[in-house]
Amino acid sequence: MTPDDRVYAYSAVLMGSPILLKLFEHNETLASNVFRLIKLQENKLTVNRQQSEVMSVNHAAGDHAVAVSKPVFDLISRAKAVSVLENSSFNFTIGPLVKRWKIGFSGNSVPAATDLQALLKITDPHDVILDEGSQSVFLHKAGMEIDLGAIAKGYIADVVRDFLREQRVAQALINLGGNVQTLGAGAEGAWAIGLKKPFSEPESLIGVINVTNKSVVTSGIYERYFELNGQRYHHILDPKTGYPLDNELLSVTIISDDSIDGDIYTTLLYGMGVEKSLRYLQNFPHIEAVFVTKDQQIIFSSQRQFTFTPLDPDYHITG
Ligand code: ADP
Ligand code: MG
Ligand code: MG
Repeated sequence: MTPDDRVYAYSAVLMGSPILLKLFEHNETLASNVFRLIKLQENKLTVNRQQSEVMSVNHAAGDHAVAVSKPVFDLISRAKAVSVLENSSFNFTIGPLVKRWKIGFSGNSVPAATDLQALLKITDPHDVILDEGSQSVFLHKAGMEIDLGAIAKGYIADVVRDFLREQRVAQALINLGGNVQTLGAGAEGAWAIGLKKPFSEPESLIGVINVTNKSVVTSGIYERYFELNGQRYHHILDPKTGYPLDNELLSVTIISDDSIDGDIYTTLLYGMGVEKSLRYLQNFPHIEAVFVTKDQQIIFSSQRQFTFTPLDPDYHITG
């Protein structure tokens, strides 16, 4: 239980991440139903085990098409649509590179440049053939692997929100390892979502994002990484080079209605950098971003759906 005695917090570890559910009632049954739902979704989408719907597609790469369930087909279609955008830094066929780097898992090393070149040849999202009629997915080249790691948590956060709504829950928060989705408001009027201070204690915050009925998703280079010879290698890869994306950014946070959008746009905007992202988002008024840069600036694309409480004098709000 949290200090606020109206809020009940339930936690679990799923998808390799700490999961937190906040409710305004003591309801173990509801909490375990939520965790079961997350597990069910993970079992369909994971690539960290031998068996899942996505793995059955991967196992058949270069050989045959595999029919999947409607929600998985729709999710893969969405992931492909974003991946084939011109110059997209989101690429859901990045699986072979992710596996090679093993970032966030034990045994990671820096791959040889020639290895990366070879693997880049089997990471073209156009080589994923989708057939709407049979709801099947075919990976055209042997060795190809779908990896939904940059979209799955957002998708699942929305599934949980929809489930809670069906259960007539008016106020709740689900945090899937940095992917937050909220229903209604929190105890003090809005939900307060901490924006972590990079490379610091988990409790240190740059500030707090206050939202009602919104999703808040953060992707940062300080979340999963390893260091070798003074170089830091984090877990968002540049689909063009095969190396971790490197620019002025420490993190990107997206505030939106749907968490799937938050998850997609964090990865997409990461590669664009601040300037391009700000221009890009002018066409998407329902998607708002908070950028944190290596030179300790906080930049908002716009601020219609949230308020921000700064907490660290080292970081300056710009723009
Ligand atoms: P987070 O893990 O912080 O939620 P993302 O949502 O960006 O970050 O997802 C990162 C995961 O997505 C990686 O762990 C990997 O599995 C996969 N991935 C890495 N680089 C890319 C990329 N350029 N496009 C799509 N997926 C990626
Ligand atoms: Mg994510
Ligand atoms: Mg993402």
